[in-house]
Amino acid sequence: KNRNLMSITEQRESLPIFKFRNEIIRSVVENQFLIIQGETGSGKTTQVAQYLFEGGLNLKGKIACTQPRRVAAVTVAKRVAEEYGCILGQEVGYKIRFVDMTSPNTVIKYMTDGILLRECLSDANLDNYSVIILDEAHERSIYTDVLFGVLKKAAKRRPKLRVVISSATLNTDQFSKFFNNAKVLKIPGKMFPVEIKYQANPVRDYFNAAVNTVLNIHLQEPEGDILCFLTGQDEIDYACEIIDEIAEADDENFGNLYAYALYSALPFEEQFEIFSQIAEGNRKVIFATNIAETSMTIDGVVYVVDPGYVKQKVYDAKTGFESLIVVPISKASADQRCGRAGRVMPGKCFRIYTESAYENEMLEVNVPDIQRSNLSNVVLHLKSIGVRDILNFDFMDPPSRDFLIAALKELYLLEALDSDEKVTPMGRRMNQFPVEPNYAKMLLVSDHIKCTDEIVTIIAMLSVQNIFYSPKKNKHLANEKKDSFNHPVGDHLRLWNVYKKWEMNYKKNPRWCKNHFVNEKKLHEAYEVRKNLLEILQSRNFDIYSAGKNIERIQLAICVGFFKNIAHKAPSSIFRNKNDKSYRTLEENPEIVYINRSSCLFYQLPEWVVYNNIRETSKKFFQEITVINPNWLPYIAKGMYRRK
Ligand code: ADP
Ligand code: MG
Repeated sequence: KNRNLMSITEQRESLPIFKFRNEIIRSVVENQFLIIQGETGSGKTTQVAQYLFEGGLNLKGKIACTQPRRVAAVTVAKRVAEEYGCILGQEVGYKIRFVDMTSPNTVIKYMTDGILLRECLSDANLDNYSVIILDEAHERSIYTDVLFGVLKKAAKRRPKLRVVISSATLNTDQFSKFFNNAKVLKIPGKMFPVEIKYQANPVRDYFNAAVNTVLNIHLQEPEGDILCFLTGQDEIDYACEIIDEIAEADDENFGNLYAYALYSALPFEEQFEIFSQIAEGNRKVIFATNIAETSMTIDGVVYVVDPGYVKQKVYDAKTGFESLIVVPISKASADQRCGRAGRVMPGKCFRIYTESAYENEMLEVNVPDIQRSNLSNVVLHLKSIGVRDILNFDFMDPPSRDFLIAALKELYLLEALDSDEKVTPMGRRMNQFPVEPNYAKMLLVSDHIKCTDEIVTIIAMLSVQNIFYSPKKNKHLANEKKDSFNHPVGDHLRLWNVYKKWEMNYKKNPRWCKNHFVNEKKLHEAYEVRKNLLEILQSRNFDIYSAGKNIERIQLAICVGFFKNIAHKAPSSIFRNKNDKSYRTLEENPEIVYINRSSCLFYQLPEWVVYNNIRETSKKFFQEITVINPNWLPYIAKGMYRRK
C-alpha cells in the first residue's frame, strides 16, 4: 500500500518498531538502561518517545530525545508533532542552539545532544527529565559520547531516571557493556536485497564519476529515486547545478530528473523540500552529505551512489589544528549507505571504488568524533559539572591523553581553569554563552575593551558558514562584489561589513543579497544568532559597546580569544619570493599555512595575523584572518590577557 495514502495511525502501525511497542514500554519501566537497535527507517526516532509517553513514563518529567544534528532535531520534531496532533512547540517541541521551540506544555522534547549537555550545567542530575533517549548513538558524536558518561553518573544518583540508547548499527555490545550489561532490543528490519556494483579500477575523480553514474542510472534504470553521497556543500551545490543545467538544456530526451540538496548548513525549509512529492514518472536525485547515511530517511530511494568519501574533522593536539579533510569512509558506513537503497524495494548501490578498496583499505568502523576533536569545550563542561579527574573520566572510548591535556592547557591559558584545574570565575562567566570557549573569551574581553557590538556580529557571522557564494557562471562578478566588502584589517571585519551593509539595505532593496552574491538565508540566521547573544548579554546586565573608530579593539579581542592561532609571514630572505603567500605558526615546529584568494588580505600579506581556522586541501590554507599588532604579542604569546 502506498504510504502516502495511509492515515497517520496506519503509517505509525506499519513501522517495524510497532510490534515492539509494549516490550519497549515494559523494558524501560523495568530497566534503568535499554539499548534499542534497528535499521534506519524502522521508527526509532519518531516512535520510541511517543510510546514512552503513551506508556505514562512522562509523569515525573519530560521525555528527551537527543540528536547529534540540528536538522534532524527539527525535522523529527515537526513530524512527531504532526503524528501526535499538536502544534509544534506545544506537547511536542524541540530545542537547538539559539532556537527554543518548547513550552511549559512540552512533554516530548527533541534536542541536540549539545543542548542537553549544556542543560547539565544548571541541572547536573537532569531532574527535568524522566527519560532520556540518546538517539543516533552509533554516530558517536562528541556530545553523545560525553553524555554516555554523564548520564551513567546521573543514573546512579537518580534511580528513577531512565536512559535509552538507540542505534542504527549492529555493534551494540559496546553500548550494552558500558551501561552495566544493559538489555538490548533488536528490531528486525524489513530490508530488500541490494545489488552492489563496484568499479573495476580505481577512479581518479570521484565527483565526476558520481555525477555520471547518476545520469546513467537515470537513463538506464527503471523508476526509483537516487541518493548520491557527496562530501560537502560545494560539491552538492555544484552537482545540483549540473543536473539542473542538463535537464533544462534537453528536457525532451532526458526525461525529468530533479536535483535536491541535503546538508546541515542548508536552511531548514530547503531541507524539508526533499520530503515533497513529485509527479509520477519523474525522478528525484538527492545529493547529500553523511546526514542521509542514518539520521534522515528519505522514502522512495532505490539507487544509491557512494563515492566512498566523507568530510571529517581531524585534530592535531600538538599544533592545535582542527581541520576538515576528505577521507575514505569505513566499511560500516559503506554498508549503511548501501542499505539506503533497499527500503522500499530491491535496490542497487553503485560504489565508486573497487571491491578491493572496500575489502582491504577501509577501516571496519569510524573513529569516534571524540578521538579527533579539540576537547576544550567538553573539558570545560565536565569541569563545570564537577568532574575533577578529567583524565580518568568514564568515556566509552577515551580520547588520547594528549587531547585532554591540550584542552586543559588551552583552558588554563584562556583563564577558564586555574593551576589546580578548578573552574575560575572567568570560566564560569564563559559558560554563560553557548559558544566555544575561545568565542566566549572573545565576548568577555570585548566587554572589557568596549567593542561587544562588533564582536557579537563577528561571532554570529562566523557561526553560519558560507556567507558568500559564487556561481560557476558568474565567478568574476561574484568575486568583485565580495571584494567590495573588503576591510583593511581583514576577513573578520569584512564579515562585519557584510552584515552592516545587509542590515542597512535589505529592507529597501529586496534584491540586495542576490546582487552581492551573499546568501540571504545565512544572513537571517546570523541575525538570529546575534539577537540571541545580545539577549544573553543583556539578561546578564552587560552593556553593549561599539568600538566606533577604534578598530584595534576588535582586532585585540579576536587575538585574545584565538591566541593560539597566530601566524607570521615567513622571514624574508633571498629565497623568499615576493609573492610567497606562506606563513609560519607559532608552535615549536611551525606549520606552513597559506593565504588564498578567499581572504581580503591576499594582496596585502601583513606580517602578523590571527586566523579563525585552517582548511586543508592540497596545502593548508587560512580561513578568516585578521591583522594583529606585534606589540600585543608579549601579552598574547603567554596566552594571557591581563586587566590593567
Ligand atoms: P529511524 O529513527 O529508525 O531511522 P524514523 O523514526 O526516523 O526511523 O522514521 C520512521 C519513518 O517515519 C520513516 O521511514 C519515514 O517513512 C517516516 N518519517 C520520518 N520523518 C518523516 C518526515 N519528516 N516526513 C515524513 N515522513 C517521515
Ligand atoms: Mg533515527
